[in-house]
Amino acid sequence: MLTVICEAPGKLSTIDRPKPLRGEGEVLLKLRRIGVCGTDLHIFTGNQPYLSYPRVMGHELAATVEEAPAGSRFAAGDTVSIIPYISCGHCSACLKGRTNCCRNIGVLGVHRDGGMTEYLSLPEEFVLKADGLSLDQAAMVEFLAIGAHAVARARIEPGQKVLVTGAGPIGLAVAIFAKLDGGDVTLLDGRADRLEFGRRHLGTTSTVQLGNGDLEQLSAITGGDFFDAVFDATGNAKAIERGFSFVAHGGTYVLVSIVSSDITFSDPEFHKRETSLLGSRNATRADFEQVMQAMRAGNIPEALITHRMMLRDVPEGFRKLTDPAAGVVKALVEV
Ligand SMILES: [Zn+2]
Ligand SMILES: [Zn+2]
Repeated sequence: MLTVICEAPGKLSTIDRPKPLRGEGEVLLKLRRIGVCGTDLHIFTGNQPYLSYPRVMGHELAATVEEAPAGSRFAAGDTVSIIPYISCGHCSACLKGRTNCCRNIGVLGVHRDGGMTEYLSLPEEFVLKADGLSLDQAAMVEFLAIGAHAVARARIEPGQKVLVTGAGPIGLAVAIFAKLDGGDVTLLDGRADRLEFGRRHLGTTSTVQLGNGDLEQLSAITGGDFFDAVFDATGNAKAIERGFSFVAHGGTYVLVSIVSSDITFSDPEFHKRETSLLGSRNATRADFEQVMQAMRAGNIPEALITHRMMLRDVPEGFRKLTDPAAGVVKALVEV
């Protein structure tokens, strides 16, 4: 079966691999759509700290069921979305239901081979029925669930002022779910086209472009109070540090993006606000279900999908799928 493999940083090729056999209690899946994101770019460029090569990328996955165990809730041909965070089920995080931050987590396409191939066999618990969703929608559930999870962490109340820094796909996902929870959402980013995307397709209340006078604008939008909840989706340590000053007194700061360096902040500034500082990692099954409900209700703009490519063309064209300057928001690979 056709498989795209990243043999080493910068080196993608197609190989032919044997089709997997369905394991006990597993569902054999035919991959249909693979979303591409910043994580894949980091793997390709060699900037993913926990990765060994060669690796098959692909963690934003839509598939159809090829073969299910007898008596399972799946039938051949069902459209499904995949939870790519393979959790252990027995660590303290898993026992608390926090499978998204399992101590022994193995993420498909990162720690173990992912979905840039034709077939995968996975335990049933990581496969979700995507009834009523298109294959394109099913492939978008994972990155949107990361946004939904971050928003759930912050427990936004209707009418609260929300700031999302970084208007890439994850930031846009956060903005969508913050708005669905009744938040009054402002987007902050350096790219005018991304801010325009937020205004046009997500109906964000306001947008601020990074640069001279941005702090004054953020202050003006909130009557000088700043934001009840601030979400960082920048992937940039300096931006994360600056974000502490955008939090209102009594507010919450959620770090969605991850950087490999330390971050520092002023303790007096942090304390005088009694800031709640939260990390947000991956997503849980409940977050995936919430995203699928939002899709069925028509609350997720299809405009998020801007580019697509066939799997066999990925080694040649990968860079085109990850280039924000080319207007990429979310690119899908078709198998
Ligand atoms: Zn991703
Ligand atoms: Zn675990």
